[in-house]
Amino acid sequence: MKIHEYQGKELLRGFGVPVPRGIVARTPDEAEAAARDLGTDVVVVKAQIHAGGRGKGGGVKLAKSREEAHEIAKQMLGMHLVTHQTGPEGREVKTLLIEEGLPIDREFYLGITLDRITGRNVFMASAAGGMDIEKVAEETPELILKEAIDPSVGLRAFQARKMAFGLGIPNELIGQATKFMLALYDAYVKMDASLVEINPFLLTKDNRLIALDAKVNFDDNALYRHKDYAELRDLNEEEPLEIEASKFDLNYIKLDGNIGCMVNGAGLAMATMDIIKLHGGEPANFLDVGGGASQERVENAFRILLADEHVKAVLINIFGGIVRCDMVASGVVAAAKNLGVKIPIVARLEGTNVEEGKRVLNESGIGIISADGMSDAASKVVAAAGA
Ligand code: ADP
Ligand code: MG
Repeated sequence: MKIHEYQGKELLRGFGVPVPRGIVARTPDEAEAAARDLGTDVVVVKAQIHAGGRGKGGGVKLAKSREEAHEIAKQMLGMHLVTHQTGPEGREVKTLLIEEGLPIDREFYLGITLDRITGRNVFMASAAGGMDIEKVAEETPELILKEAIDPSVGLRAFQARKMAFGLGIPNELIGQATKFMLALYDAYVKMDASLVEINPFLLTKDNRLIALDAKVNFDDNALYRHKDYAELRDLNEEEPLEIEASKFDLNYIKLDGNIGCMVNGAGLAMATMDIIKLHGGEPANFLDVGGGASQERVENAFRILLADEHVKAVLINIFGGIVRCDMVASGVVAAAKNLGVKIPIVARLEGTNVEEGKRVLNESGIGIISADGMSDAASKVVAAAGA
């Protein structure tokens, strides 16, 4: 789960990570009042969307007076902000963060995430912080310092100091930088985050170290331990079909292709997407209906994946282990009849009660194309989607 910059900063502040003073605004008048209350010569008006690269896209602007803050807020609210992370349609700006303008000396990068190769959290730091860290990672990865974190002891002070020196932070601020990094790691662990990124990690002209931007993603599997984070969710920022799918505990992710996939098991779902691509097609979604899917769940899954208007054909790929093929088949038939499906459906069933499942599909009268094996299924569905 993703949250906004202002929410991330609020949480980080609670763990002792220094962040700028800021006030949330949802109208130009609120922005003006916020600028007045902050009382600094310069305030920064920042669009709150779940995507980075806002600065370059026009979503972070300096205002030198309250009136200017009002004016900028008026322009930003309601605009579709396009950044390299939003896609061409952009994201509508509904919330702003009005922040004290800080005197920038240098901008660094800090990030913490799970390194899946070593199975440990990794702390990353770079002196090449600011707005182009993706480019740095791609072209000059040696400029990113990394410290693997031993889970039994956490980030050690010596590791933080090593990174602080590596960044070229002035000697008299090494202690402050170390404290910052330790607090950031503490926040990452206690929030059950999957990513915490501070870019820029700011050194001000008056020698303070502050999180000028904050990106916090939570590990969805740990959200049950943080019931209070539920209110941080912003449904405006999420794909409507994914929200609908989450109500039924379906692992659904919308993609750009035209072949809808209904599969049980994440591994099989990944393999199904691969084989569709191998046959020259493009999957419209990832969908794992789960190992123990009920008929109702299958029906809902089918309804959700068909609600995507780009879907031109559907591939049902089920391996009946815990889930029974006949039950899935009944769910599909019920959904197809309810929804009046007009597009071709290719089904590949294997495993428990497969014969009964095939019988249900064949006798349903909804014209399902049956397939033997994954390759056959993929080539049939790609042909059906192209026709
Ligand atoms: P994004 O990463 O989405 O572009 P940031 O929050 O990192 O957005 O802001 C982009 C740039 O704007 C920063 O690198 C910094 O130079 C400047 N900036 C952001 N907030 C402030 C602030 N409170 N005071 C001064 N400059 C700021
Ligand atoms: Mg940033």
